[in-house]
Amino acid sequence: MRKNMVAGNWKMNTSPSEGVELAKAVTEGRREIDKSTEVVVAPPFTHLSEVVKATKGMGVAVAAQNCAAEAKGAYTGEVSAQMIAALGVEYVILGHSERRQYYGETGEVLTKKMARVLENRLRPIYCVGESLEEREAERQEQVVGEQLEVVLALTPEQFAQVVVAYEPVWAIGTGRTATSDQAQAMHAFIRKTLAARFGDVAADGCTILYGGSANPGNACELFSKRDVDGGLIGGASLKADDFLAVAKSF
Ligand code: PEP
Repeated sequence: MRKNMVAGNWKMNTSPSEGVELAKAVTEGRREIDKSTEVVVAPPFTHLSEVVKATKGMGVAVAAQNCAAEAKGAYTGEVSAQMIAALGVEYVILGHSERRQYYGETGEVLTKKMARVLENRLRPIYCVGESLEEREAERQEQVVGEQLEVVLALTPEQFAQVVVAYEPVWAIGTGRTATSDQAQAMHAFIRKTLAARFGDVAADGCTILYGGSANPGNACELFSKRDVDGGLIGGASLKADDFLAVAKSF
């Protein structure tokens, strides 16, 4: 049985002390959330160490928002997967649309990042999603299918570690959520694509999150869909109460 998950992507928000407070509030509220739901917070790099300490053993996992494509060496400003793993972090978000759009992350770069994440026994939360223009041209499946190639190139053992997040770019931070039917249709397409490569059982076990203006008001409807196993939450993850309400929406 695949796991439900809510993951909070804090992006470049919160001071280190605010981040620890937020993590503590999520940890506190986690007691009221079903144990079968995995709760993850993804603070900025600078907060990871303290947030890991604040959440340790409390049923809240920590994710980094990115990692370097290279393993180590002369890459000024980069943070390696090995460094992240050494802190006790469990997940790394890869291929968020903001990274694809603003930092030029391509399938080639993400293939390298995926390798670094997996070789350090971290788990990737791999984001895919089409732009508004691509959806209007009805090219969403083609685009997401191409983005999924990074995952399709993995071995079955590696694939077992992957969480996929479908995040239509037009829904991220815009207040314009995909309808639950649009989300379900894409999640079913993603699962079918994974099944064609890894088989039905493995694809059925893969957690596929929806992301894009999900909040306490729409999470129940989104999570009620068969292939929507939870959410990658941006704006609504910055308030513990909202994030926890989303986590209770299964
Ligand atoms: C995100 O950036 O991953 C995201 C889903 O953001 P928001 O919830 O703010 O749309």
